Amino acid sequence: MKIRAAVLNKMGAAAPYAQSKPLSIEEVTLDPPGPGEVLIKIAAAGLCHSDLSVIDGNRPRPTPMVLGHEAAGIVESLGADVHDLSVGDHVIMVFVPSCGHCVPCAEGRPALCEPGAAANTAGTLLSGGRRLHRNGTDVHHHLGVSAFAEYATVSRRSLVKIDNELPLDEAALFGCAVLTGVGAVINTAKMPAGATAAVVGLGGVGLSALLGAVAAGASRVVAVDLSDEKLGLARQLGATDTFNAGSSDAADEIRQATKGGVDFAFEMAGSVRAMELAYKITRRGGTTVTAGLPPPTHTFPLLQVNLVAEERTVKGSYIGTCVPTRDLPRYIELYRRGKLSVDRLMSAHLKLDEINLGFDRLSEGKVVRQVILI
Ligand code: ZN
Ligand code: ZN
Repeated sequence: MKIRAAVLNKMGAAAPYAQSKPLSIEEVTLDPPGPGEVLIKIAAAGLCHSDLSVIDGNRPRPTPMVLGHEAAGIVESLGADVHDLSVGDHVIMVFVPSCGHCVPCAEGRPALCEPGAAANTAGTLLSGGRRLHRNGTDVHHHLGVSAFAEYATVSRRSLVKIDNELPLDEAALFGCAVLTGVGAVINTAKMPAGATAAVVGLGGVGLSALLGAVAAGASRVVAVDLSDEKLGLARQLGATDTFNAGSSDAADEIRQATKGGVDFAFEMAGSVRAMELAYKITRRGGTTVTAGLPPPTHTFPLLQVNLVAEERTVKGSYIGTCVPTRDLPRYIELYRRGKLSVDRLMSAHLKLDEINLGFDRLSEGKVVRQVILI
């Protein structure tokens, strides 16, 4: 079938993107679902910093590629061998498909699925195939999802069915921001109630981590960002203390305010500077979790002696160490009960044609989550 989609033809375009237009809205051909695959009518897709990192080349991927990895939609048709979904089901798309058989999958760590990671790196679906084409050549899939489009053919293993009553624009945010941010607190850090927490970087993922820390019963939640506006939002969402990271004394001020640092600090900005701050404001014996994605060559230096003498822990967290079929229903239920105000992360709704402008706003740090309604 012919669909409209946002195609990234080349990485590294100069901002402003509203002028350079790195994403071009084009008509491409989408194949019907093969065995184990499903055709989804995309309802809503969020603009995430990980998309931006592909556009600016900080996270290289093969091109041409249809971007978009945080999305929700409706099952349109089923490929052979898919018996546990029905046409009309609402689904959230998960940006690492899990094969169910590799060692990480067998260990209950599907976020680290090896065939899933290999397919994502190659820009294919889990089957190894590409279902997107243009002028007789293949177009790559973004993280098995490629949701900046009217429809997507994806692996069944990229999907989690949800109740139809959750609005699909809100549902989309659960696929990346919420799964990653809340999961970093609950799954990766296993933060106990009463612990103190700090979140460095208040994008969609960082604010989700903040919501997760509040929901999990943190006794103190410190929010850190360069934007006073986002710090204001963080306060409304339950932050007990806010600090602007632009101040050269921020680390000392936070350590002083928290009597030596927090039990758990979360780096959610994807920069070495944010990681250094998160590490500095973690107390002796505390844990620093990093879930932001820096450019692939950046390294983070730390004092090795601290790891030993202060019994420090540094943990990486990918998609919130999630088990999507377990975690998404849990987080949605918390949202329903008013314990995770995910709707407050929604900055704006956009049309597909406004996508480049949306990425300008995201790169300027002016918005949290913009969602394209398709
Ligand atoms: Zn994302
Ligand atoms: Zn696997």
